[in-house]
Amino acid sequence: MPDKSALLAVLNEEIVACRKCPRLVEYRERVAREKRRAFRDWTYWGKPIPGFGDADAKLLILGLAPAAHGGNRTGRVFTGDRSADFLFAALYAAGFANQPTSVRRDDGLRLNNAYIAATIRCAPPANKPLPSEIQNCRGYLEREMDVLRPRAVLALGKIAWDAYLEILKQRGTIASRAAFRFAHGAEAELPGDSGRLFGVYHPSQQNTQTGRVTPAMYAQVLARIRRFLSK
Ligand code: SF4
Repeated sequence: MPDKSALLAVLNEEIVACRKCPRLVEYRERVAREKRRAFRDWTYWGKPIPGFGDADAKLLILGLAPAAHGGNRTGRVFTGDRSADFLFAALYAAGFANQPTSVRRDDGLRLNNAYIAATIRCAPPANKPLPSEIQNCRGYLEREMDVLRPRAVLALGKIAWDAYLEILKQRGTIASRAAFRFAHGAEAELPGDSGRLFGVYHPSQQNTQTGRVTPAMYAQVLARIRRFLSK
């Protein structure tokens, strides 16, 4: 099999050039033109956000979508917003990242044994993708799964959880998604070589600032994943 890094690099080039979802293309480019006042000196990325991380990772982390002024501005998934601050503090504490912050593409961040992807790669209005947009983007995630063959998948929120299971259903690996109920801390052993699925509430500001999600809650799940991967 060709080098995983090379396969992911080819895939990421395709992702960045994608224009399959007209609503999202219009939105991501408009946000990039109009900008937020605090970031007016930035040249926004304004394109789809590719996956990021360790090509030999055994953990695949699956988010929802880039944020309009986070990933859509900086060009890297979970970079430059409050969700990134929360997630990377947790990943660093658990040993999956070399630093606790994710601010810009050239900030020296590296992931260790983890790769981060999103259910859809373009920022959606109000953070709400349409089912058709999730479907349009599914093929990229499938290719990442096939290259990485992760032992553990961490779904950040129910949409990511369902998206991963839907791929397994379409492939005939599972009969139905109904047997796998999402919750923070949920864990499911999947058939064949599909690995183990873990769920956490999404690290959105809405969740982290209200205390629905805390650093301790993430630390517990990441520690379980670490123990699982070390077996
Ligand atoms: S969401 Fe995915 S499929 Fe749709 S335009 Fe963006 S990269 Fe392409």
